[in-house]
Amino acid sequence: MKPETLAIHASNLVKTTTGDVTPPINLSTTFFRGEDGGYPGGHMYSRVSNPNRSALENTVAKLEYGEDAAAFSSGNTCGLAMFQALKPCSHIIAPDDMYWGIKKQLLTIFNESLEFDFIDQTDLNLIKASIKPNTQLIWIETPSNPLLKVTDIEEIAKIAKAKNIPLVCDSTFASPILQNPILLGADIVMHSSTKYLGGHSDVLGGILVTAKKDELWDRIKNIQQTGGAVPAPFDCFLLTRSIKTLAYRMKGHCENGKKVADYLNQHPNVEAVFYPGLESHPQHEIAKKQMKDFSGMMSFLVKGDAAAAHKVVNKVQLFAQATSLGGVESLIEHRYSVEGPDSTTPKNLLRISVGLEHVEDIIADLAQALG
Ligand SMILES: *Cc1c(COP(=O)(O)O)cnc(C)c1O
Repeated sequence: MKPETLAIHASNLVKTTTGDVTPPINLSTTFFRGEDGGYPGGHMYSRVSNPNRSALENTVAKLEYGEDAAAFSSGNTCGLAMFQALKPCSHIIAPDDMYWGIKKQLLTIFNESLEFDFIDQTDLNLIKASIKPNTQLIWIETPSNPLLKVTDIEEIAKIAKAKNIPLVCDSTFASPILQNPILLGADIVMHSSTKYLGGHSDVLGGILVTAKKDELWDRIKNIQQTGGAVPAPFDCFLLTRSIKTLAYRMKGHCENGKKVADYLNQHPNVEAVFYPGLESHPQHEIAKKQMKDFSGMMSFLVKGDAAAAHKVVNKVQLFAQATSLGGVESLIEHRYSVEGPDSTTPKNLLRISVGLEHVEDIIADLAQALG
C-alpha cells in the first residue's frame, strides 16, 4: 500500500467488541493472563508494550519500510538509547551541525564513556578518513538543523556497509513522506515525532525504525522496555491520529515552503537562504535524488548583525517566535540565542518552520517584518 493509505490504516491493529472504527486509548498498565499463564491479548505490562504504542510503532515502521520500531518519550531519548546501546569506548562519527540537544548528550553524558568526532558529512572523503578501528556508529542528520545541509545517504551507507558500521539517520526534517533512509541503505531511522509526525505542537515523542531485527536492535528494544522512557498511551494515540493526515500536511508544507524560500531568496534584506529545494543550494542535486520534496524547513541570514535578525523576529505577527518545527502554525526562531555561546550558528540566522496557513498571509507577514 501507498504511504497515504498506510498512514490511515496501519494503526488499526485491534478489533474491539464495541466495533470502534478508530482505536480507543488503552490506559491499562497491566493485562490479563490466560489459564496457561500466557498473555492472550498480546500485552503484559505497558512499559513493555501497549496497544496504542504498538499501533504507533507498526505505522511508522511501515512508513519507513523497516522491520520494527521503538517509540520513546522524546526525540532526544532516541539518541540516548542509541548511545547506550554501544559498547564502552566506541567511536561515533557525527555531523558538525548535529541537532544541538543530541550533540549535548555526547558532550555532557557520554563524554567519558564514548569517543566522537563532529565532522562536515557533506565531505565523503572526510567520513572515510574519520573511521577508526573502534568506530561503531555513523550518525547522520539530513536535512540538517539549522543549516539545512544535505548529506548523501546512499553514498554514506556504502561507506558504512563496507566497514560493517551501523548507519543511523535523523530524518526529522524530512518526515517519512519525503525521505526513506532505509531504502537508501541506512540501518536505523530516527524521528523526533514532536515535529512533523505530531504536526500540531502538542505532543513530545521520538521513534527509531530498524531495517533489520539484529543484535543492535535487540539492545535498543531492551533499553526501551527496561529503561522505560516510553510515551504514554495518550501520546501514542495523538501521534497515530496525526499521522493519518501526514502525507497531506507534508504536501502543504512543501508547497508553502517552496514559495516562501523563493520570496526570501529575492528579498534585498536577505543575505542568503538555506533551503534544499533552491537550485542555488550546494547539495540541491543530492536532495533531488533522495527526497521526494523539500519540506517547510529553511533558514536565512538577515542582512546585518544579530540585532537586525532580532528586529525581524520581534516584528512578525502571524509567525510565533518559538522553538520547534513541523506544526500547522508557522514558527520563527533566532537559533544562536537558543543554542548558547558554544553555537557555531551565524548570529544573523533565523530558522523558520513554514506552517499550513495561506501562503500569501505567511509571505505578507515576512514582508512587513523584513521591511
Ligand atoms: C527536535 C529534534 C530532535 C529532538 O527531539 P525532541 O522530541 O525535542 O526530544 C532531534 N533531532 C532533530 C533534527 C530535531 O529537530
